[in-house]
Amino acid sequence: MDEKKALAELLFPNVTQTPDDLEKLFPPRKLPEGARVTRFAPSPTGFLHIGGLFAALISKLNAQMTNGIFMLRIEDTDKKREIEDGVSEIIRGLEAFGVTPDEGVMGFNKEQGNYGPYTQSKRAGIYHVIAKSLVEKGFAYPCFCTEDELSALREQQEKEGALIKGYFGKWAKCRELTFEQQKKLIEEGRPYTLRLRSPGNEDKRITFVDLIKGKIEMPENIQDIVLLKTDSIPTYHFAHAVDDHFMRTTHVTRGDEWISSVPTHIQLFSVCGFKAPKYAHISPIMKEENGSKRKLSKRKDPEAAVTYYAEEGFPKESVLEYLLTLANSNFEDWRRANPDADCSEFPFNLKKMSVSGALFDLTKLTDVSKNVISKMSAEKVLAYALDWAEKYDEKLYSLLSRDKEYSKAIFSIDRGTAKPRKDIAKFSEIGAYVSYFFDEEFDTDLSELPQNLSKETVIKILEAYAASYEQAKDNSEWFEHMKELCEPLGFTPNVKEYKKNPGLYLGHVGDVSSVVRVAVTGRKNTPDLFSIMTVLGKERVLNRLNAAIKKLS
Ligand code: GLU
Repeated sequence: MDEKKALAELLFPNVTQTPDDLEKLFPPRKLPEGARVTRFAPSPTGFLHIGGLFAALISKLNAQMTNGIFMLRIEDTDKKREIEDGVSEIIRGLEAFGVTPDEGVMGFNKEQGNYGPYTQSKRAGIYHVIAKSLVEKGFAYPCFCTEDELSALREQQEKEGALIKGYFGKWAKCRELTFEQQKKLIEEGRPYTLRLRSPGNEDKRITFVDLIKGKIEMPENIQDIVLLKTDSIPTYHFAHAVDDHFMRTTHVTRGDEWISSVPTHIQLFSVCGFKAPKYAHISPIMKEENGSKRKLSKRKDPEAAVTYYAEEGFPKESVLEYLLTLANSNFEDWRRANPDADCSEFPFNLKKMSVSGALFDLTKLTDVSKNVISKMSAEKVLAYALDWAEKYDEKLYSLLSRDKEYSKAIFSIDRGTAKPRKDIAKFSEIGAYVSYFFDEEFDTDLSELPQNLSKETVIKILEAYAASYEQAKDNSEWFEHMKELCEPLGFTPNVKEYKKNPGLYLGHVGDVSSVVRVAVTGRKNTPDLFSIMTVLGKERVLNRLNAAIKKLS
């Protein structure tokens, strides 16, 4: 038996499968021509960053556009970074925004698909088959260097001013151990990592085309990177090559912090005998602060966590719509041309992604969301508001659920028209938005009355209106009534006329309706007053008019 084979046997005595067996177990997928297989591969930290949701969305769209497959893989090889059941939190986060996988990890301890397991900690056997084959081919070797020896190496390189630092070439002392030496150390039970024997050349460069960033040229990898740690758990690099090959990923979309590792990854794919996937590196989502840009930070920015949007009550449609504006700069033009189309119809294109990092802007999200909510039906707004309030606002929940028809009527005001009002950006604003519809939340507040009218005049308006109050059947009948009130009270029904001869009148019909509006709602600006009064009903309106008169008298 040749020495490489003997070493492989010594290191992996229990591994009996070969890479060919794995090729058969995980054969190329039978998908239509051009279908892309993508994945989101988070560590189970229990925290889903908005940038993670963004990356997942991009991966999903990329697959969806081509009738491909979007997978969720859990990368739990870094025990330090995990929290107990950090997986559920991530899945919940994705689900809340509809970015659900077609395959892979679907829930806590729940997987779906023929290319799994999709959780790295369950794939040790697979990594070891490939690791063994690399040893056989001479592309991997055990390294017995201790932490202390590795720090001494770093110090030495510092001291000598080595241009390239790390474990490679002449510095990689375990690279040159003879089989006899390796055997002896293994049999002694010395801990070791498994390292790549890099075939890279310091003077060579590689080029690759990143689907977002374009053509990139970098030096070849020469580092003998660790493939398996001392506990024989793979490093990210090795797991990435093995997983994305055997899961038949065609497109790797991931954060651009990995871009500098691409030469290593391409080399790993090559020594393993795998075809490398296409890469698309996403720039981080940025935030503008004091005139400069920085990454949206988990520590400093509450809006970095996807849970923030749920807590604030932004509907998932708004967040997705907004993320699409960040993803492709032509999304907004598309939206203008297709105001009612579903987001999933947007022809997303990886190539149109920002190279420098999209700027996250909560004000913009708020505007997008107002627009999105303005187009929802009253039923949907009520259902969403109830869902939100049930979790975050008990009082609002009880108000809205008491009489759902009444609540729905509130949300129907000015909705379903060509120009719906854009008052609500998030469900946490709804409590304030609806409060005057509920007597226990309404307090006669007359501070917004028109300043130009005396108390006596206001009382006269309210008395005249209350005395002649009749539930109007439509807006124009209601407005006619307002106009009829004007002349006997010294007002004009004609605004233009008032502007011509202001001295002849106490005010115009707008002032009269303002008085009524403030008495009935406590506010100067509201949606259509006729509709509001219709929802409130005659009794409640009269009570409020009388309460205002009493307060002023
Ligand atoms: N687990 C890696 C991360 O957390 C995944 C990178 C990738 O998508 O390949 O960033």
